[in-house]
Amino acid sequence: MSSTKQDSYIAIVDCNNFYASCERVFNPALNNKPVIVLSNNDGCVIARSQEVKDLGIPMGIPVFKIKHLVEIHDIQIFSSNFALYGDISNRIMNIIRSGNSEMEVYSIDEAFVTINPRYTDPIDYATTLRNKIYQWTGIPVSIGIGKTKTLAKVANHLSKRGVGKNNVCLIDSTNDQDLLQKVKVHDIWGVGRRKQKFLKINGIYNAYDLKQANPEWIQKHMTIISRHTVDELNGRKKIELEREFATKKSISTSRSFSRMISDLNTLRNAISSHASRSAEKLRSQNSFVNSIGVYLCTNRFRADLPQYRRYINVQLPVALNDTSGIINAALEGLYAIYKSGYEYKKCGVILNDLVQANEVQQSLFYNRRDKDERISASIDQINQAFGSDTIRYAVQGENESWSIKREKLSPSYTTNWNEFLTLKV
Ligand SMILES: [Mg+2]
Repeated sequence: MSSTKQDSYIAIVDCNNFYASCERVFNPALNNKPVIVLSNNDGCVIARSQEVKDLGIPMGIPVFKIKHLVEIHDIQIFSSNFALYGDISNRIMNIIRSGNSEMEVYSIDEAFVTINPRYTDPIDYATTLRNKIYQWTGIPVSIGIGKTKTLAKVANHLSKRGVGKNNVCLIDSTNDQDLLQKVKVHDIWGVGRRKQKFLKINGIYNAYDLKQANPEWIQKHMTIISRHTVDELNGRKKIELEREFATKKSISTSRSFSRMISDLNTLRNAISSHASRSAEKLRSQNSFVNSIGVYLCTNRFRADLPQYRRYINVQLPVALNDTSGIINAALEGLYAIYKSGYEYKKCGVILNDLVQANEVQQSLFYNRRDKDERISASIDQINQAFGSDTIRYAVQGENESWSIKREKLSPSYTTNWNEFLTLKV
C-alpha cells in the first residue's frame, strides 16, 4: 500500500528577516550591518535585520524615537521597496513550487508545502531546498517540518533559535516532548498573547502542556479553533493547506495583509492589484476568463473579533482578458460582499472558467474588446521592460497603499531595466 496523505510531512519555508535580507542581496556592503526598513510614510520600523533585533529595537517603533541608536550603531535605513520584495518573493515561491504539487503561499515571505512521501528524508529534502533558495536568490530561509501546519510552525520557531541543523528543524513523535517544552504557549501559531492568559491560569505554559490538554475541555472553555490547535500539536491534521488554484482552469492571486484592514479603499487597492496581476497571468497563457471570484476573510484566529468570510462569483457577459475589464468585475464583486465593521486579514481574486483565445465566442454586443486587448498588451510590454507597475490603473492605488513617502528607496534591481545592478570594474 502506498503511503497516504495522512503520512506526509508539512513544511513551512520562512524567509529570515525578509525585507532586510532583500536589501542585502544587491548590496553586500550591508552584510553584518544593522538594517532597518521603514513603513509607507517612512514613519515606523517594519523590518529588522538580526543585528537590529539584537540591539533590542522593537517592531513598529517610530524611527525618530531611535535616532540616537541609528547614529551610534550606524544603522542603515531603507524605505520599503515592495517592487523588489514582491519580485524576490515570486522567485522564491517559484523555486518552492517547482518541486511540489501542493503548496500554499501564506504571506510574502512564507509558504506551506506538503513534502511528497517519495522524499524519505524530509530533513534532507528541506536542507536541499534551503540551499537552492539561497544559491538562486541570496535569501536565507528557515524551514520547520511536522505532521501538521501547527507543528511545522512550532518547528520553524525553533529553527530560528538554533534548534535543529542549518535552520531546518523537524518535530516528530521521537522528539516532540523535548522540543515542545521549549516553546511558550503564546509563540504557538494561533494562540497568541490573548489566549495565553487563560492557559497560564490553568497551568498550561508551554506547547507540550497544551498538547497534553483535554481537547473537549479546551473547546468548552475556549473555542473550536483552540481545540484544533491541540489536535494539531498531537499530529492530527485539522487545518488544511489552502491550495493554489494555479491550474489551467483557473488563476488565483491573493495575499494575507501584514496588518488587518477594515477600510474599503485599501481593499479596493488590494483587489485591483490582485485582479491586475491575474490578468497578466491570464494573457501570458493566452487565455480568456468567463467568471471572476472574489473573496474576503477576517482572521480566523481572532475569535475575539467578529468573523466574516464571503466568496462571490461574478459572471461576465463575454470572455475577457483585458486588465480594466477584469478589475471592474472584481470590484463589482468586492462591493457586493464588503461589509464595514470587520477587520480583514486576507482577500483574493480567482479567475474561473478559462478558455483559450481561439475558443472565445465573439459577442455582437461587445466591440471594445480589440481596443482593450491592445491596450493591455502594450501595458504588459512596458511593465515587462521597465518594471512591474510602471503603468498601472489608478484604482490600484499608489504602490498598493504602502508608499507615500519613500526617501530612502533602494533601486528596483530585479524589475526595472533602469535600475539593474551595475558592476564597477
Ligand atoms: Mg519571515
